[in-house]
This record gives sequence, structure tokens and C-alpha cells, in this order.
Amino acid sequence: FLLPCHECDLVSAVSPGKDGQWLQCPRCQHPLMRPAQNDQLTPALAFTALLLLTLSLLFPYLGFEKNGIERAMTVTDAAYELAIYHHPALAVIVIATIIVIPALYLLSVCWIHMSLASPGPLPGSLFLARWLPRMQPWMMADVFAIAALVSLVKIIAMAHIQLLSAFWTFSGFALILLITVTRMNTIGLWQRLLGDLQQPAQAQAGDTAQRQGLIGCQWCGQLQPLGQSHRCHHCHSFLHERHPFNLQRVWALLVTAILCCFPAHLFP
Ligand SMILES: [Zn+2]
Ligand SMILES: [Zn+2]
Repeated sequence: FLLPCHECDLVSAVSPGKDGQWLQCPRCQHPLMRPAQNDQLTPALAFTALLLLTLSLLFPYLGFEKNGIERAMTVTDAAYELAIYHHPALAVIVIATIIVIPALYLLSVCWIHMSLASPGPLPGSLFLARWLPRMQPWMMADVFAIAALVSLVKIIAMAHIQLLSAFWTFSGFALILLITVTRMNTIGLWQRLLGDLQQPAQAQAGDTAQRQGLIGCQWCGQLQPLGQSHRCHHCHSFLHERHPFNLQRVWALLVTAILCCFPAHLFP
């Protein structure tokens, strides 16, 4: 079947390869999709990560002792301390990115796989499949785990630090969450949910979709006539052509990031 590349728009003919093997765009090598497979490992990983997250919330994360005073901190204390010190917005962001959004993501993965395994689709599974890739950039459990390690190095000279049980379960949760995310591929998932893609009559491999008067859906890979609808007729996600002033925006953001990088590293 024909699949457009989201990065360079080249339409290429792909044939399902071996299970678990990524198919790449022949021009820019962007990974296009992984063929649909009867995947039982992904929901098992998602369930394990959920279990480890639950354990991390029940037990203490870090213990420290200074001048004879001992204290244990939980994962949620990190946000609680921020809220006390007048940063409620930061506290909400921390809780959302390390607990709430990852938990919703993992629950969605379990629900969608239960739906795939049951005779008919379960309610809400298509809605959740649309939201899965949008949740991905907001999950930062791994960032939190690494940031905690970096801050430990700084305070280890000032107090006696102990890594408690939730430290290990949270690190395991962050790692298994990462593995679950890398195993998800939206185009393969949509094929399992909605069946094979339809091929427009004028579509050909070897040229860009735009030059053929077509547009490819970035989520499910469906090719469809350009400018006919704002939503994909296969998965009902929003379609978009090239973003206006794309290169100018990237340059502006890049220069701003470089400017911010210096004070961020030089000042306390
Ligand atoms: Zn490409
Ligand atoms: Zn679509």
C-alpha cells in the first residue's frame, strides 16, 4: 500500500515486513510505521508501569538526615513543597507531567489493547487513540528521575541521603514508560483499529503527495484529496499542510533558545 512521509511528503509503496521491523522513507529515512502485529507485550509493559507508579506514590522516595533531624519525602512532596513556596503553577505542571498524563497514557494503552482483543471496539477507544500521540510530549517522568539524581549529587555534601523504596519503583516506572512509548506507532495502531488504508485512484509512489493534489494524514497515513476537508476521512484527526512561515519560526525559536542558554548556565 501507499504511505506518505510526514517529514518529506514523498509517497512510497510499502509492503508489510517482518513483525516489529520499522519501515523507513526511502528518501529521508524517517521511520514511517511498524507493521500491525498481534502485540501482547505493549499492554503488559503499560500495566507494569502503572503498577510501579502506584507503588511509587505509596512509599517514601528519599530520606535525608541533617543535624540529627530525619525526614522522608514522597514523589508528591516535590510538588507540595513548590506549592508551599508560592509556585502553585509549577506544582501543577510537575504533578501533571510526571503522574497524571503518564497514568492517563498508560490506562489508554491498556484500554485500546483490550478493545483490539475484544470482538467489537470498546467505547472511547478511537478517541483515546487520537489523543495518545498528543500526550507523548508532555510525559516527563524520565526527566524527573534524572533531575532528582542531579540534585542529589549537589545536596549529598550537605546532608546524609538515603534512596528509599519509591526511588527504585519510580525509576523502573520511568524506564518502562519509555519502552512502552517507543513500542507505540500510530499508523500501525490505526490500521488495527480501522482496517487497511484506502488508496486514492490518482496516488502514485515516487512523487510527493502535494504534487499529486493529495495530502497525507500524519496520524493514520491515509492519503486524500488536498483541500477537500480539514479532517481526515479515515481517523477524523485534523489535517494540515506545511505550517505557514515554518522556517522563519524555527530560526526565531533557535536564536531565542541560544540567547537563553547563556544566562541559564552562567547565573545562579
Ligand atoms: Zn521522507
Ligand atoms: Zn487520519
